Amino acid sequence: MQTAGLLGVLGHDVTVFEARDRVGGRLETVHDGDATYEAGGEWIDADQPRLHKLINSIQGGLDEAVREPSLAIFKGEVRRTDDLWPDLVEDETAAQLSARALPRHPELPAWKNRKFAKYDSLDLASFLKQNCQSERGFWWMNANLRSDEGDDLNRIGLLGWLTGYIHYIDRENLNRGESEMSAYRTPLGFSRLLEAMQGAMLGELRLGQVLRRVTQLAGKVTLHFDDTSEVFDRVILTLPPPCLEHIVFDPPLPSAKRCAIEACGMSRAIKIALQFKQPWWNERGFCGRFHCDGALQQMWDGTRGGAPVLIAYICGERAVEWTSLTEPVSAALYELSQYFPEATESFERGWIHDWVHDPYSRGAFSHYAPGYALEHSQNIVVPFDRVHFAGEHTATWVGFIEGALESAERVVQEVLHCDKN
Ligand SMILES: Cc1cc2nc3c(=O)[nH]c(=O)nc-3n(C[C@H](O)[C@H](O)[C@H](O)COP(=O)(O)OP(=O)(O)OC[C@H]3O[C@@H](n4cnc5c(N)ncnc54)[C@H](O)[C@@H]3O)c2cc1C
Repeated sequence: MQTAGLLGVLGHDVTVFEARDRVGGRLETVHDGDATYEAGGEWIDADQPRLHKLINSIQGGLDEAVREPSLAIFKGEVRRTDDLWPDLVEDETAAQLSARALPRHPELPAWKNRKFAKYDSLDLASFLKQNCQSERGFWWMNANLRSDEGDDLNRIGLLGWLTGYIHYIDRENLNRGESEMSAYRTPLGFSRLLEAMQGAMLGELRLGQVLRRVTQLAGKVTLHFDDTSEVFDRVILTLPPPCLEHIVFDPPLPSAKRCAIEACGMSRAIKIALQFKQPWWNERGFCGRFHCDGALQQMWDGTRGGAPVLIAYICGERAVEWTSLTEPVSAALYELSQYFPEATESFERGWIHDWVHDPYSRGAFSHYAPGYALEHSQNIVVPFDRVHFAGEHTATWVGFIEGALESAERVVQEVLHCDKN
């Protein structure tokens, strides 16, 4: 949407094809009865300039998140995060200091860091194991980073993570910039923002068009959908990598490009939203946010106006397990009631959002697996003749909404440059 908007303003004739019957992709604000919450992307960091600018221009400002007091629940013991176990705090500090002491100045984009090749084959879980002495400390660091990365940490390459960590290192707070992370949300929800962008877009939007095939011949690109095909001068594909994998290219993509698409990690994350009669967590003296070592992993207050909603954000192998349950919402409520029995009484209804099996994302957001930063990340960005690639997986803010916006700016420059030459 952002790419189309930028090109339209520059006078290009743009058509957007979208497989779903709505715009937004992995951004979707659910309005169901009196409940409103974000089913996909939700949080905005303090230092994501493109997203701030966009939201400020359309919705006039951002909502500051209430993130404290929050809780940590480990082996049944509940602690406020301003009163954590000393061994956990020690491990957290040690791991943060070690992360800062690794490559002092990794560069962006990630593929430029050949001198740090030794980190590329390592994974983030091994790094944490080396730096945490206590079981609790390892659990805590693992739980926090797994939420950020959206998957189990043995799938996350250390160099790829470090190049993302650059965004945090410059933040003032040593605690991984915690106070600046997940600092804001959109006041009216992402769907409203996207509706406004759609309204302002100069160009045509066609919903329900599932791309199957891309052919290039004689300086033209043809897009083939189920019932129709259309010819263009240039095409920008913003499909997530696992969806791109299913597109047939004729002539075929160069092997380096295909490998970069196939090897790109895609996080496995789901959300389960639970609506309650009242925000019982306020009476309990916390903001609704907690990490626990049980099946729920992490919850927060997802209320975006209307009825109180708690969101469980579950990642990695656990997320896949949840998607195979016949009653995931009841299971989530049961798990929650183990720590907070009042949740059962207050419960009204719930929803699951399974991004792992969503046919048009096939995962939540991309990450660099071990080895990806140096071997593949450069190739995921490069165009293939008149076909260009954008989306969060092609940005330095990999995995973030900010990355999707960053990629729009980059790909527009790329197209302008190609048109000139
Ligand atoms: C559960 C969850 C939580 C998240 N939390 C955050 C967060 O707190 N903060 C944050 O910054 N980011 C978060 N993200 C990530 C963020 O939502 C994404 O990085 C961002 O929205 C991706 O934008 P995109 O334009 O690159 O891709 P998408 O939004 O996925 O757009 C790609 C589009 O391609 C379409 N498509 C796919 N296949 C086809 C096809 N064959 N034919 C036609 N169209 C097709 C899709 O329907 C989609 O609309 C989260 C994501 C999820 C799922």
